[in-house]
Amino acid sequence: MRTVHVPLADRSYDIRIASGLLDRFGRECARLKLTPRCAIITDTNVGKRYARAIFNSLASAGFLPSLIIVQPGETSKSLKTVQACYDQLARHRLDRKSFIVALGGGVVGDLAGFVAATYLRGIAFVQVPTTLLAQVDSSVGGKVGVNLKSGKNLVGAFYQPKLVLCDLDTLKTLPDREFRAGLAEVIKYGIIYDANFFAQIERKLPDLLKRDMKLLAAVVSRCCEIKAEVVGQDETDEGRRAILNFGHTVGHAIENISGYGTFLHGEAISIGQVAASKLSRAVLGLPERDVERVKNLFVRAGLPVRVKLNSSKLQKLLGAMRLDKKVSGGEIQFVLAKRIGLVVWGQRVPEDGVVQVLDS
Ligand code: ADP
Ligand code: ZN
Repeated sequence: MRTVHVPLADRSYDIRIASGLLDRFGRECARLKLTPRCAIITDTNVGKRYARAIFNSLASAGFLPSLIIVQPGETSKSLKTVQACYDQLARHRLDRKSFIVALGGGVVGDLAGFVAATYLRGIAFVQVPTTLLAQVDSSVGGKVGVNLKSGKNLVGAFYQPKLVLCDLDTLKTLPDREFRAGLAEVIKYGIIYDANFFAQIERKLPDLLKRDMKLLAAVVSRCCEIKAEVVGQDETDEGRRAILNFGHTVGHAIENISGYGTFLHGEAISIGQVAASKLSRAVLGLPERDVERVKNLFVRAGLPVRVKLNSSKLQKLLGAMRLDKKVSGGEIQFVLAKRIGLVVWGQRVPEDGVVQVLDS
């Protein structure tokens, strides 16, 4: 088993990464000195596969779990679902010393984390991420929240879990498209932080796509390490944490203007990272061969690297980017790469520079 420590003073916690963790889940929780009553929040897809294992493991370690099941998909990240969760927690008499288990992908993690952050002014929670994206990204760092009609993640909190358990076996049932989308965040860590890791992914991509467990253990651990380091330096996203948004300015805008479900998050940021690399060439002189390496790796991972945009779509995309927080005075702020493994944030780029790259 690999353990990554997230260093956040009195909010520090461990991420454990291995196969077969679900069955030991109760014992891991027992070490946290939590009281017996707890609730597992999951969605129907994940619940039917893994809720029983978690439930039984908790019960045999002496806990009293109850199960809350929500619909899969982004629409469950809503205040309505939050309300339904509160009602069930109250009905099951969870008190201030009880805890919540978030079992699922990013949607469940964000939702259950927000419920934990706010129910009785905050109760403990443990993350069991079951998608590659959630294991390497959303379960680490404590951003929790839900969507409003007017936009994604507009209500939320910084709220750290007590423990994160990544059971690599759960990735075996993840649909192929979801797995590849998760790889977009994996590749991102190479670009922003670790050129050797990027090269390792280039070499071992075929085995990674076959979901080789040993390789996955190493990859998930390295991603968690990098995220933990970055978050440890800037928990509340006031500066350096911005580098985690490489490719996300364009990516979020693409998600916003496309209909729901057209692009998964990982697919949108794949396009966004290729665009950001081209901008990096223009603004910071990132070598052309590095732009090609980035693009080729996303292509080989089966991810999209461009969108077709007519001029009205392009205007919409710019509009969506302007609405993002990272805009001031007609210039959009980007995270750009100096070379693979090193990025800088807060780079202002004029809009026509962005248009050129998206048109190319
Ligand atoms: P993400 O982690 O990418 O933000 P979601 O939480 O929306 O995404 O999960 C993506 C989809 O995959 C959902 O339909 C979810 O129910 C399903 N899912 C999550 N984990 C697994 C798994 N281990 N096996 C099969 N399906 C899963
Ligand atoms: Zn992301």
